[in-house]
Amino acid sequence: MFMESAPVERLLESLRRLPGVGRKTAERYALQLLTLPLEISDEFSQAVLAARKAIDWCPTCKNLTDIMPCAVCRDEKRDRTTICVVERPTAVLALEKGGGYKGLYHVLHGVLNPLEGIGPEALQIDALVDRVRNQGIKEIIIATNTTAEGEVTALYLARRMAEFDITTTRIAHGVPMGGGLEYADEVTLARALEGRLPL
Ligand SMILES: [Zn+2]
Repeated sequence: MFMESAPVERLLESLRRLPGVGRKTAERYALQLLTLPLEISDEFSQAVLAARKAIDWCPTCKNLTDIMPCAVCRDEKRDRTTICVVERPTAVLALEKGGGYKGLYHVLHGVLNPLEGIGPEALQIDALVDRVRNQGIKEIIIATNTTAEGEVTALYLARRMAEFDITTTRIAHGVPMGGGLEYADEVTLARALEGRLPL
């Protein structure tokens, strides 16, 4: 069967690197990609490569950006004493869409997960501690998701922040339990930020 040919296997393996894509979903995507006209496939693969090469992590906040540092970190009008800590760039997108938050961000690129061997060193936590130490930060808002791992990460961060003279808050539970920030609507997100509680 064509699905077992080496190049198709390689495509399936690549697709499965995406979060939430298992064997079945990868096969469905692969079939759709394989039925595209060759020039469209070519455009698709060039677009993926070009976009990936144009984007990298902001050296300060670790969000994805095409300019270094990113637009938020450059913006002098933002509140440069407050950092909202999120798991992934998608959460920054959701919060920026709401437009109510005027501080800076820090993207951890994941959450603590001892069962999967993901410890603090696998996340952008030391970079956050450096910013708090050196950049005149007064408040850290921990906006990790309300999953078990998100809560564990929030508690760990609160402990790490205890050595600094800053306020550490956790977004209120307007965000659905077990939910990702990116799935909350803008009003819920705004309320969650306003109703944040000290940790
Ligand atoms: Zn940045």
